[in-house]
Amino acid sequence: VRGLQKHFPVKSGFGWTKGYIRAVNSVSFDIQEGQTYGLVGESGCGKSTTGRTILKLLEPTGGEVLYQGRNIFSLKGAAMREVRRELQMVFQDPYSSMDPKKRIGYTLEEPLLIHGQGGARERTERALELLDKVGFSREHYDRFPHEFSGGQRQRLGLARALALNPKLIVCDEPVSALDVSIQSQVINLLQELQRELKLSYLFVAHDLSVVRHISDHVGVMYLGELVEQAPTEQLFSSPLHPYTKSLLSAVPVPNPRVKRERIILSGDVPSPLHPPSGCVFHTRCPYVLDRCRTERPLKLTVATGHEVQCHLYQ
Ligand code: SF4
Ligand code: MG
Repeated sequence: VRGLQKHFPVKSGFGWTKGYIRAVNSVSFDIQEGQTYGLVGESGCGKSTTGRTILKLLEPTGGEVLYQGRNIFSLKGAAMREVRRELQMVFQDPYSSMDPKKRIGYTLEEPLLIHGQGGARERTERALELLDKVGFSREHYDRFPHEFSGGQRQRLGLARALALNPKLIVCDEPVSALDVSIQSQVINLLQELQRELKLSYLFVAHDLSVVRHISDHVGVMYLGELVEQAPTEQLFSSPLHPYTKSLLSAVPVPNPRVKRERIILSGDVPSPLHPPSGCVFHTRCPYVLDRCRTERPLKLTVATGHEVQCHLYQ
């Protein structure tokens, strides 16, 4: 992902554009094959918008997504449909993407039908295979979505995303609505499927412990900017950006002998319609310097794969 931008126009009552919400601003990162990239941040920071824009479910404002070397933003027609099969999405609420009046078998076969894959018999075979992959049996084929619990529906949502043999799945808060005990089942299933099918995930979430558990690499977003990214253990053991530090200091440390700096942020996240000048975090940062108010910090690479966007390290 290179310099991704997504801006939403804000209309006045008279219909003219009075400004733009800069939901995603020059965001760049890499997702390696067979790995998970976790994207964290508070709600409204642009992480879900990033996930959706990458898949072109939202029209990008700028930037590139190079998928196996090809910029998918410039693909059209058949070439785009081809790539679209390989890039899938799992939502927080899988129920919203299922037709309550249709049986599960149909829900799983629908992507194949849309992409004109296989005859009726092959599609049924594939649906049964998918049910088996996510821990269900043949008898679930004829059931309706409402007959499943939240965790079961998320497994079905995953099965549906797998129907077309994708390479990358964007998982947008896939376990946030589930009980903790059910969360780990879904996470374990995601990991098993990743190993078996060499899947890559973009895992969007606000729960840091879940992200730490599943991700190889983590990016931290604030007000549409990717302020820090690093290999997972490095980010958690040596966070650099003051915002990352504040997020981590809100998570209890299991070992009481490990002392961690406590940073409590004051104030609210500013409106993305009027983002602060200079560093987007300067209105809440306990370390703010004069230059932070006017100069946008450049991205600095501090170690392999570890980048931070903050004047303290320049
Ligand atoms: Fe804080 Fe300045 Fe760093 Fe922004 S650039 S995070 S305001 S120290
Ligand atoms: Mg979201």
